[in-house]
Amino acid sequence: MDVTPILESLNDAQRQAVTAAAEPTLVIAGAGSGKTRVLVHRAAWLIDVEGVSPQSLLAVTFTNKAAAEMRGRIEALLGMPVNHLWIGTFHGLAHRLLRRHWQEAKLPQNFQIIDSDDQLRLIKRLLKNLEIDDSRWVPKEIQWFINAQKDEGLRPQHLDDGRDPNRRQLIALYAAYEEVCERGGLVDFAELLLRAHELWRDNPDLLAHYQRRFQHLLVDEFQDTNAIQYAWLRLLAGDNAAIPFVVGDDDQSIYRWRGARVEHIHRFQRDFPDARVVKLEQNYRSTATILNAANAVIVNNADRMGKNLWTDGAEGEPIRLYSAYNERDEADFVIGRLRDWIDQGNARADAAILYRSNAQSRVLEEGLINAGIPYRVYGGLRFFERAEIKDALAYLRLISHREDDASFERIVNRPTRGIGARTVETIRAYARANSCTMWRAAGAVASDELAGRAANAVLAFMNLIERMARETTGLDLQDKVDHVIHASGLVQMFRNDKGERGETRLENLMELVSAAKSFEPDPAGEMSPLDEFLSHAALEAGEGQAEAWEDCAQLMTMHSAKGLEFPLVFMCGMEDGLFPHQRSIADPDGLEEERRLCYVGITRAKQTLYVTYAEQRRLHGMDSFSQPSRFIAEIPDEYVEEIRPRVQVSRPVRAPRSGATGSLRRSSDAEMGVRLGQRVRHGKFGDGVILNYEGQGAHARVEVNFETAGTKWLVLSYANLDLM
Ligand code: ATP
Ligand code: MG
Repeated sequence: MDVTPILESLNDAQRQAVTAAAEPTLVIAGAGSGKTRVLVHRAAWLIDVEGVSPQSLLAVTFTNKAAAEMRGRIEALLGMPVNHLWIGTFHGLAHRLLRRHWQEAKLPQNFQIIDSDDQLRLIKRLLKNLEIDDSRWVPKEIQWFINAQKDEGLRPQHLDDGRDPNRRQLIALYAAYEEVCERGGLVDFAELLLRAHELWRDNPDLLAHYQRRFQHLLVDEFQDTNAIQYAWLRLLAGDNAAIPFVVGDDDQSIYRWRGARVEHIHRFQRDFPDARVVKLEQNYRSTATILNAANAVIVNNADRMGKNLWTDGAEGEPIRLYSAYNERDEADFVIGRLRDWIDQGNARADAAILYRSNAQSRVLEEGLINAGIPYRVYGGLRFFERAEIKDALAYLRLISHREDDASFERIVNRPTRGIGARTVETIRAYARANSCTMWRAAGAVASDELAGRAANAVLAFMNLIERMARETTGLDLQDKVDHVIHASGLVQMFRNDKGERGETRLENLMELVSAAKSFEPDPAGEMSPLDEFLSHAALEAGEGQAEAWEDCAQLMTMHSAKGLEFPLVFMCGMEDGLFPHQRSIADPDGLEEERRLCYVGITRAKQTLYVTYAEQRRLHGMDSFSQPSRFIAEIPDEYVEEIRPRVQVSRPVRAPRSGATGSLRRSSDAEMGVRLGQRVRHGKFGDGVILNYEGQGAHARVEVNFETAGTKWLVLSYANLDLM
């Protein structure tokens, strides 16, 4: 048999891992050393050379995108499709198991997945029903509490209140929340994992079945498994059942805040004392400069397994550091450099703009839109999370499952059809009193309790849903979606909403039809295409929006960038307080996690890395001044080139700075007392901030970013600016 393609372009250590005998294996290695590559080649090796059936492999990746990529790469190596190979995220795989074994998992056959938004709404409603003050019991904190317990595998009955009334209340709310989910057949993300674990734990025959089926267990990004995920893997591995082959990097553990435990690397070695440990030390991704910089940052962490990572690649360009005046200046700079890169004939998709916090994307997005550069945001406001999309999905869900209360509430009066808050409250009260669904309650109160007009409105809504269900029976998925967005009145509603917003929403709704059209049901799927599509919408909301048919720049948080690589990377907002994040600065463990995140960010870059920070930033509606991130100082000077000398913010300069270039020439007019970042007020344009200067004396001009009027260049001697 010709095994060369599978062993090609692997170094000795990688080859050793790929061809290892069937024994528990732990590959522990730094960024870009080929861990994911080893996993892909291992799968191909097992199938092609060891003759293992694709059915007997279970591969776990961190994102759906990574799963799709991995499947593609395995198929490319083998030269054939591997439909029966189970490959996905922990959540995706758990979901598949629960669909297959809904009875054993004690779920209704048509259970619905709710995303974290739905979950939060459910909790808010629960508090309202229980008449609990949501300023004292903050819904987000309750949500966090519930998910944290589930991630540890704990149900309310496992929890001890330790005589703490606060905790007692949280546990009670967890129990109440469980009841609501149970009644509505709703399953949140954390529940997927917990149920799947309980499914195997409580059904030994079923577990034995899967242990016979899966001989090999391949896990990427092992350092970020949480307790319940590890327990699930451990169950499957049993004593001598599926053989685990896991790859990870302790320096890239960045989800501790979500329950991930890097200690699982040690735990693995305890649980499988004979495990083979393979280290990979050569980095193939980045230039020497980028790799050295990353190593110099991560070495400041005390709690590490420690490893050697080297490259025989070129030294490469220096890391470019840019100090911006504010977030707008930062965005302008990033977009300018991105433009240059695109103009040089590079693919937009090869450039990634990374940031610490989702909210940072807005200013960057604005800039990209103005510059006409197509882009995509991973995470943040994603396609499936947009309000109009959720409206349409709620109709689809309700058509498919009348007991879906969250969907019922979302659309009962959307578009408005005369069903007011009072009516909804009556329905809710009935549902609560009779422990039934909103749908049933609506039918009951419409005939008994409600006054004529309200009753008619409710009945009309119910008829609409029934009619839509009838009319869409037998239609293709895309036609179903198309029918529903029209028959529901959503399209008409947004059409009436003149202006750009309505238009965008309409476009998004149309995009949903395209998404349905291009949706490919899982070849091993168990559900109707509609249900699968709805689950897909909930599961994938966290990642890509509609398929990338267009070459576009990639925007994402550093967290979402894990495992990916790009020739050009921008790391934005490198300021203390933002990155490292304010809440982790005082906590040594938190700071180390932030540093690992910085290591992840730097090591995404293959050739070119820009690091930017702003002296002043408006974020979440607040202005703040900050210091450059301490992580920047950890990168040795020899690897860094400052793009241009920083202009002292209030230093008076009478002549244009000699080294300054182009339109960004900055000078300052000491007599005026004008300085960059200065807040000013203009008679017509209102309040703004000075971004830029040009010229001197009578010709001096300033660029001001006005809060409402946008950016304008003004001649200072005419503008009559008030300094503030
Ligand atoms: P991360 O820790 O960021 O997830 P990783 O260890 O999974 O990184 P890979 O993504 O598998 O690393 O590999 C990094 C890059 O190096 C990829 O572009 C991969 O194709 C390339 N690469 C890995 N090993 C080799 C090799 N032996 N020869 C050539 N290229 C390689
Ligand atoms: Mg990887």
